[in-house]
Amino acid sequence: MNETSSPKIIIAIDGFSSSGKSTMAKALAKRLGYRYIDSGAMYRAVTLYAMRHGLLGDIAALVSHLDNIDINFRVNPDGSQSTLLNGEDVEREIRSMEVSAHVSDIATVGEIRRAMVKKQQALGADKGIVMDGRDITTVVFPDAELKIFVDASDETRAKRRFNELRAKGDSDTSYEQILENIRKRDFTDTHRQESPMFKAPDAVSLDNSQMSIEEQNDFLDNLVKQRLEGIRNESRR
Ligand code: C5P
Repeated sequence: MNETSSPKIIIAIDGFSSSGKSTMAKALAKRLGYRYIDSGAMYRAVTLYAMRHGLLGDIAALVSHLDNIDINFRVNPDGSQSTLLNGEDVEREIRSMEVSAHVSDIATVGEIRRAMVKKQQALGADKGIVMDGRDITTVVFPDAELKIFVDASDETRAKRRFNELRAKGDSDTSYEQILENIRKRDFTDTHRQESPMFKAPDAVSLDNSQMSIEEQNDFLDNLVKQRLEGIRNESRR
């Protein structure tokens, strides 16, 4: 897809855990020449920081450390992206089951959310960005030019995550543990007081349970094309 002569837009993607949104968002950003930001990685990095400093049980202290927590992203020479916590590449560690078990509780904390949202909005200031998460379409970029809400059955999601962990060499975590973690995170993410996840009324729904990666990519490319055409037409009026 070549949209280089098009106006740059913000593409906001929300969805349930392990719905494949990061993979699709990353690939879409690459096709468009946009920047990709995984907002979940930011909450995971804060969680890892809390674990390392023994602050999981002391949220007030963790909040007081927020100014010392620098989160950044780096694109590696092989095209992969790493999350940096105070300069250290923590990409692998933040995907562990231990971080997954705590991250949704950390992400309920208002002060932590506000700090992350501020950073996310700054990252999108120049547009040309694809960002995924749970509140990107509703809180971070409520005026994004294109909003997508991704879902898939919890069993499909658990199976994908299971295969991903196995491929990374994790053979300790069972399918049942993953399914339970996904269901627990879904519940916390949709029922928390601060920015609960919900589908924005103007977000396009995408249930990818039965879709191949190619079908998903085509669906997204068409959406982007339509949206960019719409913007071009609006600006001609
Ligand atoms: O996307 P991922 O599953 O890596 O996100 C980890 C957790 O971070 C989610 O389960 C959710 O609790 C939290 N999160 C959030 N808001 C976002 C992104 C992630 O609350 N924008």
